[in-house]
Amino acid sequence: MGLKIYNSLSRQLEEFSPLTDGHVSMYSCGPTVYDYIHIGNARTALITDIIRRYLEYRGYAVKLVQNLTDIDDKIIARAKTLGISSGQLAQTNGKAYFEDTQRLGIQPADVHPKATEHIPEMIELIQMLIDKGAAYVIDGSVYYRVNSFNEYGKLSRRKPEDLLAGARVEVDERKEDPRDFDMWKAAKPGEPSWDSPWGPGRPGWHIECSSMAMKHLGETIDIHAGGEDLLFPHHENEIAQSELATGKPFAKYWVHVAFLKIDGRRMGKSEENFIFLREALDRYPAEVIRHFLISAHYRHPLDYSLESLQKSESALKRLNNCIESLQKYHEEIPDAAEIDNATPFNVSETNMNLLSAIDTMQSRFTAAMDADFNSAQAVGSIFSLVSQVNKAIGSSNGVLPNTFASAYRKLTEICQVLGIYTINEDNTDTTTENFDALIELLLEIRQGARDQKDWDTSDKIRDRLKQLNIEIKDTHEGSTWKFIT
Ligand code: AMP
Ligand code: ZN
Repeated sequence: MGLKIYNSLSRQLEEFSPLTDGHVSMYSCGPTVYDYIHIGNARTALITDIIRRYLEYRGYAVKLVQNLTDIDDKIIARAKTLGISSGQLAQTNGKAYFEDTQRLGIQPADVHPKATEHIPEMIELIQMLIDKGAAYVIDGSVYYRVNSFNEYGKLSRRKPEDLLAGARVEVDERKEDPRDFDMWKAAKPGEPSWDSPWGPGRPGWHIECSSMAMKHLGETIDIHAGGEDLLFPHHENEIAQSELATGKPFAKYWVHVAFLKIDGRRMGKSEENFIFLREALDRYPAEVIRHFLISAHYRHPLDYSLESLQKSESALKRLNNCIESLQKYHEEIPDAAEIDNATPFNVSETNMNLLSAIDTMQSRFTAAMDADFNSAQAVGSIFSLVSQVNKAIGSSNGVLPNTFASAYRKLTEICQVLGIYTINEDNTDTTTENFDALIELLLEIRQGARDQKDWDTSDKIRDRLKQLNIEIKDTHEGSTWKFIT
């Protein structure tokens, strides 16, 4: 049995079969960087991370692209309030996004394209759509002509009349059809803008993702992910733009993450009921927050509460205690191969039970994750093994050290796929390496100064290092250094 993914496009569980054997291309809609991210945003980012980790665990080579929307109405408005440029605000919050997600143990994507660094590609795509008759220009703005794409609505399954009713709310009289949406917004006074064939302006949000996804992953991608709020209109419009431009399917599988809620309402900036991820990380270890965020299937809403986090905290304590009590066996018997050959015929029943619990955990974990990434059940399989290990530890029936070592290895391997346990056995001291690299950097800077005949700087570096008992020697091959003994 293989991996199955629920595809929002077909509204069915589908057998996963990527476009290229062994490879997966994945695009996930990233944050609009006008503020820090809250733990609702973190749920979507974390599910993307878990999907990627699991695909890699299953042997796929994954290329993940996650954009940063660094120009947008909210960014412009917030920057104005703060009296800084929108570029500055986006840069600060973009940096904060990486700090926060890194603290949560989210691995960086292979590419994190920024909208403002892809304006020429967006202009090209918009021009292509104009040339195909799928877009029109009014007063320096460019609109997508929804009527030109007869599959419009296929993702959200919204009927044209529903779409019309929805679009009328914020109708722009200049549009041919209330459903049409802007791909290029003509510049307003005081707003950041870029030159284009239609005059100065900035891109619309939907064209950003179409164009960055296609640039970095090709015209058809395997998995496109995002929060459930993005299904309409964002993803519907991405499909309309991309598929009309290329004539090819834009994404094979559409994955939508359900909301993190608080008191039954979506956690969101506009709801003012959010908790910044960095605040949560100041109070709880990353593994606890990860455990909480994956404690429900990603297509089910998840309720935030202090009690749930506390539950995750005590679950993680159990897990850590269990792994720590197994660690010594792993350190004594580090060779995995020994374990396979070490099943003597007279081992105790407890030992046999534990061996079979290890196998069961592995198969239940894979079955759960294969069933559309059911992380809740996957976590359940881990905790069943934890119970078995605790039983075996407390049992008077002898358990072979090999078996405990095997349980350690399986538990840590699987926990790392979900990122809920961090192995802390790497004692390599990086301080020395960093120190050497720093001195090399200083030598490089000094060499640069010498090339410019800036003898003051060169001597200053040499003299200051000498005060720190480090001697620099200049030779024909370059400078070397050593500690003065
Ligand atoms: P934004 O910065 O608002 O564009 O959101 C970034 C990502 O977080 C998008 O994929 C959203 O769908 C997702 N998101 C926003 N709020 C929530 C929430 N309460 N629960 C889960 N995902 C969310
Ligand atoms: Zn997007």
